[in-house]
Formats: sequence, C-alpha cells, structure tokens
Amino acid sequence: MTKPESDATSGPAADRAAPVIEVGDLHKSFGDLQVLKGVDLNVRRGEVVCVIGPSGSGKSTLLRCVNLLEQPSGGRIVVNGTELTDPDCDIDAARTGIGMVFQQFNLFAHLSVLENLTVAQRKVLRRDKAEAEKIARANLDRVGLSDKASAMPAQLSGGQQQRAAIARALSMNPDVMLFDEPTSALDPELVGDVLGVMRGLAEEGMTMLVVTHEMQFAREVADTVLFMDGGVVVEQGDPAQVIGAPRETRTREFLARVL
Ligand code: ADP
Ligand code: MG
Repeated sequence: MTKPESDATSGPAADRAAPVIEVGDLHKSFGDLQVLKGVDLNVRRGEVVCVIGPSGSGKSTLLRCVNLLEQPSGGRIVVNGTELTDPDCDIDAARTGIGMVFQQFNLFAHLSVLENLTVAQRKVLRRDKAEAEKIARANLDRVGLSDKASAMPAQLSGGQQQRAAIARALSMNPDVMLFDEPTSALDPELVGDVLGVMRGLAEEGMTMLVVTHEMQFAREVADTVLFMDGGVVVEQGDPAQVIGAPRETRTREFLARVL
C-alpha cells in the first residue's frame, strides 16, 4: 500500500528515513528463562511495523521493553534519539513520547471517558483543564467517540473502550504508538472499528509498532512485517513477501495455522 508523501504529521521526505525506534541486540530473561535472544528492529518515521508470531514467542516482552515496562537484560533501545537503556536516561520524560495500547484496555473504571483522556495530560504534561479537554475531545472525535465524553467505561462496548484507550494515548501527542494485540479481547463484530481507527492513524503518518494476529490488517497496512519465534526475529520484510511468500519454514508453519 502506498502512503501520501506529505501529510499532517510527517516532516520533509528526508525525515521519514530517520528511525524513531532503534532496537539493537535486545536480550531479556526472566530468571533462567531467556525470552528475547538478540532482537534487532528499526521503525522509521511514519512507518507501520507489524509483529506476528506464536504465543510465547516474546512479542509482548519486546513491546514492553521498548517503553521500559520491562528492564532489558542486554542490548540497546533508542526512541526518538533518546537512549532508554542509558542508565542516566530520564525514563518518565522519554515515555511520554511513546503511546501504548494493550489487549485489555486499562481504562480507569472510576473516571469518565473524558477524565480518562485528561488525567495524564494534566499530571504529566501540565496542561490546564480547558486545553486538556479540548485535546481530549479532538481525539475522541478522531476515534469516532465524540458522543461518549461523559460516559463511564463500563457503559461502553469493548470496541468503544479500546478506541477510548487509543484516544487517551493520542492525547499525549506521542511520537510513536505501540499496540499489543489491541483487538484480541474483542468480540469479532467489534474488531473492524478498532482496526479502522488504526488504519486511519497509519494513513495520517503515525509511526506504529503493532503486535497483531490480524493478518489481513498486517498485509494491507504494514510497511514491514516481522515474524518472531522463540525470542528471535526469524524473518522480516515486505508484508506481501513475509505473509504471501514466506522464506522460512517456521513462518510457513505459523501462517498455515493462523490463515
Ligand atoms: P507473546 O506476547 O509472544 O505471547 P510474551 O512476551 O508474553 O510472549 O512471553 C514470552 C515468554 O516470557 C513466555 O514464556 C512468558 O511466560 C514469559 N514471561 C513473560 N512475562 C514474564 C514475567 N513477567 N515473568 C516471567 N516470565 C514471563
Ligand atoms: Mg503477547
């Protein structure tokens, strides 16, 4: 799929080649269990990278390391020029540029949708109430929930909750969005709306790293697909190649099970 060369969020053409996420030789162990065994990954500005692979292959751990929800055991992670693995890095500051959307939406149950979208803007970015609400409403509109600002999370469907979670992440003006199986907890009829929102973000030029089992989405939206198994990247490339004509046996076996 081709994308517009210039849009609201992308800079000059040269900028698009700059990596927003650089992961080098990333290792992560939990006790004796080696989960990531030397993962390399680059995501350029405006690029959509989809990570596919069997359960337990380390996909969530990879994403969680990229915003330091997990401490890497070794290797290097640079996001937007800031080395997160540098012991002197201001992690909280760096993290504000990274939006994360989880399988479970993790909305604050006791806060309205609007409050869910404003709390971090006010606490972390120190925006005043009026500005935070203006940005929140603009992002609710972006995900098709402008009429749900005063609803409580429990009053929303799973798909609406996930779209609210996406709007919450967007309200922090992230440089990059990480998605960890954002549609896996949804009833099938609600998946399309969430994927539609993600597709829209991709078309606007948002830099995205997406763990997904939605092969059709990966095929149509990703610039690069990366197949992980056993804590390593087995194969990566153009979606038409990795999903349509995989070179590695392990990729073929995985796709035969999920397609
Ligand atoms: P995926 O997202 O590809 O399904 P994960 O990254 O969630 O894989 O998990 C990879 C492996 O790491 C699994 O064997 C899982 O049990 C293990 N693991 C993940 N998080 C932890 C943790 N906090 N403590 C111990 N083991 C973990
Ligand atoms: Mg996972």
